[in-house]
Amino acid sequence: RNILIILGFSCIMAVVALIAVGLTQNKPLPENVKYGIVLDAGSSHTSLYIYKWPAEKENDTGVVNQIEECKLKGPGISRYAHKLSEIDIYLTECMIRASQVIPKSQHEETPVYLGATAGMRLLRIEDAQLADKVLAAVTKSLSNYHFDFQGARIITGQEEGAYGWITINYLLGKFIQKLNWLYLRPDENGAQETFGALDLGGASTQITFVPQNKNIESPRNALHFRLYGRDYSVYTHSFLCYGKDQALRQKLAKDIRGTDGILRDPCFHPGYETVMNGTGNYRQCQRSILELFNTSYCPYSQCSFNGIFLPPPHGDFGAFSAYYYVMDFLNLTLEETTSQEKVIDTMEKFCSQPWEELKTYFGDVKEKYLSEYCFSGTYILSLLSSYHFTADSWKNIHFMGKIQSSNVGWTLGYMLNLTNMIPAEQPYSKPLSHT
Ligand code: AMP
Repeated sequence: RNILIILGFSCIMAVVALIAVGLTQNKPLPENVKYGIVLDAGSSHTSLYIYKWPAEKENDTGVVNQIEECKLKGPGISRYAHKLSEIDIYLTECMIRASQVIPKSQHEETPVYLGATAGMRLLRIEDAQLADKVLAAVTKSLSNYHFDFQGARIITGQEEGAYGWITINYLLGKFIQKLNWLYLRPDENGAQETFGALDLGGASTQITFVPQNKNIESPRNALHFRLYGRDYSVYTHSFLCYGKDQALRQKLAKDIRGTDGILRDPCFHPGYETVMNGTGNYRQCQRSILELFNTSYCPYSQCSFNGIFLPPPHGDFGAFSAYYYVMDFLNLTLEETTSQEKVIDTMEKFCSQPWEELKTYFGDVKEKYLSEYCFSGTYILSLLSSYHFTADSWKNIHFMGKIQSSNVGWTLGYMLNLTNMIPAEQPYSKPLSHT
C-alpha cells in the first residue's frame, strides 16, 4: 500500500514537473523587434508616426507596421517662424507618447527623422534664414529625448513623390515577384505592375508613376531605382503652390469684384458670407479653377500644365492625403460605384446646397473644412483632368487613407530608405523554407 502511495505521489510530482517544463517551454521568447519614428511636418499640421518591425526580417517586404499616429496640436511648423520658443512645447506631447509606446530599453537605438514639406519650402523661398532657424529650433528640441535623433530637414518635392510611391508599393506588396512554381524561382515575367501615387497636400501636390514608355523626356522628372533585383524608371513631379490650400489662395487672389464691389465665389455655398459671398455653382467653380492651369504652351510631346512634361497616366493609382480626406467626406471612395460622372454629379448637388442647411446637417465637421469641400472636390476633379485622366481611366484611381494599419504617405518610404531596409537585390531565400 505504501508503495502505491509513493507511486501515486511520484506521479503527481511528475505531472507537476511536466506542467512546469511545459509552462517554461511555452513562454514566448523575448520579441526581437525594432522601432522607428518619422515626423511629417506638413504645411497645415505635423504628425508623428511610429513603425515597428521584426529585426531579423528587415529586408523582407511588407514587414514594417505603423503602430501609432500622433497628431501634434497646432498648425504646421512654418507657422512657428515668429514664435520659435513655442516649438519645444509643440513637440512635447507626441514625443512623450512615443516614449511610452516604445519600450525604454529600445529608445537609444530608435531612429527619429523629421521631414518638412512644401510649407517649409515656401518659407525657405521667402526667407531662407528664418527657415533655418525653425529647423534649428526643431533640432534642438528633438535632441533632448533619449532616441537616436537623425536630423530635421526639408525634403524635396521629388523625394516626397518618390517616397510616397515606394510606400504604397511596399504596403501593397508590389515589389515581391510572383514565383514561377514550376521552377521555384522568380518568374522573369512575374514582375508586378506597380501603383502610381497621387498625393495632395496643403501647399504642394505630387504625381509619381511608372510610365509605359521608359524614356522620360525631361530628366528632372525621371528617377531610376533598383529595388529587390528589379529596375524601375519612375516619372515624378511636385507642383509647389498647387496643394489644396495654396490653390484656393491663388484662386481667391484672381477673383474679381462685381460692379457692386461684392466678391462672389461659385466655389462656396449659397449663403456663405465672409470676405466673399458664396454662389454655389460647380460649373462656374470648375471654370474658375481651370484658369489656374496654364495649358497654352508645352515644350514636350505632352504636358500636364505650366509647361511641365507628363507622360500618359498608366496603370492603377493610389490617391491619398487630402485626395482621400475630401473624397471620404463626400462618400466617394467606394470603388464599385464611383465613376467620374458620379463625382461630377455629387459635386453639382453638393456645391448648390445652402450653407445654413449644410452647417446644421454636418454640425460635427470642422467649419473650415466643411466650407471648403465644394472647392476641394472641384479642384480634385480639375487637377486629375489636367493629368489627362478620362472617364475611362478614372476607374484606375483608388482613394486610400491607410493600407492595413499604415497611413499612405511619404514617411514610411523615407524611413525604409534611410534605414537601408529596401535592398537593391532580391534577398536570397531558400525555396520552400519556413523562414
Ligand atoms: P499638409 O498639412 O501639407 O500635409 O496638407 C494636408 C491637407 O489636408 C491640408 O490642406 C489640410 O487642410 C487638409 N486636411 C486635413 N484633414 C482634412 C479633413 N478631415 N478634411 C479636409 N481636408 C483635410
